[in-house]
Amino acid sequence: MNRPFPHQASFRDSVDAMFAEAVALMDLPPGLAEKIRVCNSTYTVRFGVRLRGQIHTFTGYRSVHSEHHEPVKGGIRYAPSVNQDEVEALAALMTYKCALVELPFGGSKGGLRLDPRDWDAAELEQITRRFTYELSRRRLISPSQNVPAPDMGTSEREMAWMADAYKRLHPEDIDARACVTGKPIGMGGISGRVEATGRGVQYALREVFRTPELLARAGLEGSLEGQRIVVQGLGNVGYHAASFLSSEDGARIIAVAERDGAVMNPDGLNIDDLREYLRKNGGVKGFPGGTFEPDSAQALELDCDVLIPAAMEAVINEENAGRIKARLILEAANGPTTAGADAILRKRGVVIVPDMYANAGGVTVSYFEWVKNLGHITFGRLERRQEEDRHRLLVEELQRLSADTGLGWTLSEGFKQRYLTGASELELVRSGLDDTMRGAFQQMFAQLHNDSRVPDLRTAAFMVSIRRIAESYHSLGL
Ligand code: GLU
Repeated sequence: MNRPFPHQASFRDSVDAMFAEAVALMDLPPGLAEKIRVCNSTYTVRFGVRLRGQIHTFTGYRSVHSEHHEPVKGGIRYAPSVNQDEVEALAALMTYKCALVELPFGGSKGGLRLDPRDWDAAELEQITRRFTYELSRRRLISPSQNVPAPDMGTSEREMAWMADAYKRLHPEDIDARACVTGKPIGMGGISGRVEATGRGVQYALREVFRTPELLARAGLEGSLEGQRIVVQGLGNVGYHAASFLSSEDGARIIAVAERDGAVMNPDGLNIDDLREYLRKNGGVKGFPGGTFEPDSAQALELDCDVLIPAAMEAVINEENAGRIKARLILEAANGPTTAGADAILRKRGVVIVPDMYANAGGVTVSYFEWVKNLGHITFGRLERRQEEDRHRLLVEELQRLSADTGLGWTLSEGFKQRYLTGASELELVRSGLDDTMRGAFQQMFAQLHNDSRVPDLRTAAFMVSIRRIAESYHSLGL
């Protein structure tokens, strides 16, 4: 069981407690809330792989929370702490997340209990291929039924091995590539997937700053420019979020917490330099662009405007919630705030942008990748040149009109360049992601704004999501 502190609930209990709070405000038919809440199945596999001259036994899980839409979707994590309670909680969050951002998926999650740093690439490949075989035998990886993706400790590399292993097992399946998302571009991946969760975090925070009522609740004002942000975890999600927010929105990343400690700079850290330093040195200690604090938990309690936990679950818990000074918390990780901490922070008026919304960018772009794989064509391939031709026609006509009427307008080269270039796959992905994040935010916020009983954004997000799942069950005749 994943209990960060003995007196606190497990991760799954925590998700269930938040779910229950939302259900209490809804009018669902008897028994339906329970049907939605429970995890449909969890498969545990133990398999042996011969490595370094002996057989090593590994334990893996794939949990399917809800099949109201298929395939079910969710990442696979590699970490020594992986356990059944955790994958079930994470699978449930995937269900609610997909429903909130309107993706046609049920929720699932998987994990393998190992520390990826203990094994070299060739060994990890052997383990991953064997795990894929076990999942495939039970249809827990399949383009139509269950589509894994990267999560903590996994990346494009593991997805490439999984896709290849699946393809070998199902050579006749023309859609085999759609069996996982988050693949490298050359293996059917999509532009913008690697940074998608971080990009989604940026879009989410931009939405908050476009919503004066919410900003006022958090006691913040103005634009993102100059806001003091603390980021916990400089992995794929934390790094991209911090990098985009600082380089594109002018926010100041005043501290980053990592495994070996935290690094701080009140004027703002250079995120790309820090990431490079972390990659080379395996820690942030000694980074010349900031001061080091060996107790990384201290960074969470720094005086700042926005706190972005982007690593593990339960890092904000009943023990430290009272000392958090941020007025706004954006949950880039899954489950970073326990139910107990959530209640304490709510009482203190801290605004929390919940995980199921804030980190939905990853699975949203996974959806685009899955659709691309099923369509067997890159987005924009058919229309790009035609779009450019039509734009050129308009530009030429404007120039002709301007010359004929003697108005003497000239279109700037910069404008022409941008207007005449048809959208690339990356631009289309960003547009789809931005639209998804804005749409979901509006629905979540409207739920909070229009119903005075709704105490916070998390409850609002659960309500929107549960209502959608209930509707699908209703149309299934349940
Ligand atoms: N692991 C990511 C998440 O927690 C992505 C899941 C996916 O793309 O299916 O949302």
